[in-house]
Amino acid sequence: MVDLDTLRARVRSKEQELVAFAQALIRVPSLNPPGEAYLEVCEVLGNRLKARGFQVEYIRGEGAPGDSDRYPRWNVMARREGKSHGACVHFNSHIDVVEVGHGWTIDPFAGTVRDGKLYGRGSCDMKGGLAASVIACEALLEAWPDYPGAIEISGTADEESGGYGGVAHLAKMGLFSKPRVDHVIIPEPLNKDRICLGHRGVWWAEIETHGHIAHGSMPFLGDNAINHMGAVIQAFETELYPALAGRHTAMPVVPEGARSSTLNINSIHGGPPEGVEGLPAPVVPDRARMVIDRRFLIEEELKDVKGEVRGLLDRLAATRPDFRYDLRDIFEVIPTQTAEDAAVVQAVAHGIQRVLGKTAELVVSPGTYDQKHIARIGHLHDCIAYGPGILDLAHQPDEFVGIEDMVHSAEVMALALSQLLQVRG
Ligand SMILES: [Zn+2]
Repeated sequence: MVDLDTLRARVRSKEQELVAFAQALIRVPSLNPPGEAYLEVCEVLGNRLKARGFQVEYIRGEGAPGDSDRYPRWNVMARREGKSHGACVHFNSHIDVVEVGHGWTIDPFAGTVRDGKLYGRGSCDMKGGLAASVIACEALLEAWPDYPGAIEISGTADEESGGYGGVAHLAKMGLFSKPRVDHVIIPEPLNKDRICLGHRGVWWAEIETHGHIAHGSMPFLGDNAINHMGAVIQAFETELYPALAGRHTAMPVVPEGARSSTLNINSIHGGPPEGVEGLPAPVVPDRARMVIDRRFLIEEELKDVKGEVRGLLDRLAATRPDFRYDLRDIFEVIPTQTAEDAAVVQAVAHGIQRVLGKTAELVVSPGTYDQKHIARIGHLHDCIAYGPGILDLAHQPDEFVGIEDMVHSAEVMALALSQLLQVRG
């Protein structure tokens, strides 16, 4: 066994190392899109862990969407066996960061430290969390050299674009399934006192309305597909949105506005393409397309979610002259929620109680992250997101993570790890 106060003291003694390692990660601009410098970040992580006795493997998400010789989807998987029988605890972090965008007052890739905060693109989402999990594991190795089970740490590609070349690829290889792995912690920035149990579901689809092309000076000779799409929007506003807003989930989604079903219109296109040189052609558009982003609740079935939209379109087809449509699926994610009494939830909650002196808040994310692949492909349900950083800062200019928050969450992760290594999931 390990003495928990000794373990925490180990983590705290590594604060400088933690900051330096997070800086090293931030200084590699692993932007996605397009998927820059993945191998470089993997090596920063892999070299460090190899020096500490981990077996390190580099795995390319070959053939996954986005993977190419110019932008290969590299992942790193590290594992260190314990001295006796026990459980495998896995820390998974994505290594990609989103575009820099405008409005920065600080170099986004310098890893600047100012007033107890570490700045940079990816500091909060989620290189700060990755560094904290590495320091948590290293502290445990020192405080408990004879630990049971196995410790795994992975750095994976493409979470920001769906995770297909990253966690999904590794899950298909069996790397996120039992008996290899028992418990997974994803150090996404959910705040150091919150445990994220899962996420809502997603259905993206394209609706296309059809019309009849004609000269724009004589619209009565054609049939305008954009007008038909207007009827779709009208039906959304009068029928669908009120129905969705009235549907509430028992999932503890934050922010609270996302505790209902939602639908966003992501894009709409119709008529001559945007950006034409000179004047656009005067035509009655014969097609219009809309991409919808429907987020659904664990209480809803995907087939009902789809059927509701199709029913609305069918009603328009029955009542509106010449209304014709196509509906195509683009992307779907089933909602997932880890049970509150799961070992990983209990262990991290204990850690939060001990380190922060408060009861962990159990939350669910309005959007998805890589837990979806671990649940659906890996069939592993002892998985949560827990890590330092304020979610609202993710993807913003002047993104930062608090250094004390990183240290606290590393302490929580180390305590949870010491407990979970002894619990076969
Ligand atoms: Zn993230």
